[in-house]
Amino acid sequence: MKCIEIIKNIENWAPKEIAWQKDNVGLQIGDTDKRIKNILLCLEVNDNVVEEALVKKCNLIISHHPFFFSPLKKIDIANDRNSRIIQKLIKHDIILYSAHTNLDYTKDGVSYQLAERLGLQNIDFLLNLKSNQYKISVFVPETACEEVAEAIFSAGGGVIGEYTRCSFRTKGNGTFKCSGKTRPAIGKKEEYKFVEEVKLEVIVDRWKLNTVLSELKRIHPYEEIAYDLVPLDNPNVNFGIGAVGYLPKEYNQNDFLSYAAHKLIVKNFRYTKGKKGMIRKVAVCGGSGSEYFHEAIAKNCDAYITADIRYHTFQDAEKEILLIDAGHYETEIFSLNEIQKRINLQLKTNKDINVYLYKGSTNPVIFYNN
Ligand SMILES: [Zn+2]
Repeated sequence: MKCIEIIKNIENWAPKEIAWQKDNVGLQIGDTDKRIKNILLCLEVNDNVVEEALVKKCNLIISHHPFFFSPLKKIDIANDRNSRIIQKLIKHDIILYSAHTNLDYTKDGVSYQLAERLGLQNIDFLLNLKSNQYKISVFVPETACEEVAEAIFSAGGGVIGEYTRCSFRTKGNGTFKCSGKTRPAIGKKEEYKFVEEVKLEVIVDRWKLNTVLSELKRIHPYEEIAYDLVPLDNPNVNFGIGAVGYLPKEYNQNDFLSYAAHKLIVKNFRYTKGKKGMIRKVAVCGGSGSEYFHEAIAKNCDAYITADIRYHTFQDAEKEILLIDAGHYETEIFSLNEIQKRINLQLKTNKDINVYLYKGSTNPVIFYNN
């Protein structure tokens, strides 16, 4: 199997187009046309990760955090660690690929995995992404409506959350008079024609628009197709930030802290006490998500778990919500299992390719215990 096929599978789940504008997701180094031997998954690449890739004969490393984030001004092998990593990856023909905020913002991505790890149920996004969707309204002769709808659905249109093949259809009359230069699918040249048509309306993600339109044009019977494209302003329920869900049972604060520490396999975390009361509804955001704690309060959550929380954010949250900083690495690491699961599913006929999780830790943060 070629690397590009693995990438397509990942991007079908976590489209690059939903990533934060300033992010650098996707291919970092390498030739995506190469056949894959084995795959290594990690949160970030360092020397040890590359060494393990070599030992395990992996020629694809998938990291969550992009390797290239700030502009690269030089490759200084003697003095710069990252330069030596670049050299080693190229020398050994290892492809490096990153799925970062696109993995954060997709369903079953980083925050969903954190929520599942905590045993939350009825998981949904904490905050949906601003819409990057269009409404297509296309006018189709009634007899061709199903075929055109099918073409749009197959190209990825009509997805609203867990519902697929969503459309709305209104019957009406279309009129046209074609010139002598046309070859009309219905009626004759120069004839003023009334046709029973359907106005077919479907929601399409922005990055699927070109594929949907070219499929629509390929299937639609008319020479000139009448359609409207309307950019939408409503939230996109397919993608979002953070996750929210319910614990299977209520916990008091102390029991919840111990439950969360146990589930996340952490010995220490920082937290501030929220309102007194039981914990049932919990919001999470893998990685740096402190700016969304207002969302967790607005959604009546009893606790919010994220990372990289500043002192003043703790201050703001005090007496409002139980706010836990469980660590950046610790709140993201479980997402690798989902990548592994999805690639293994894709590889089910390719038993000779192994998908490994990096066995060490790339977490740079250490707790000092006196
Ligand atoms: Zn992160």
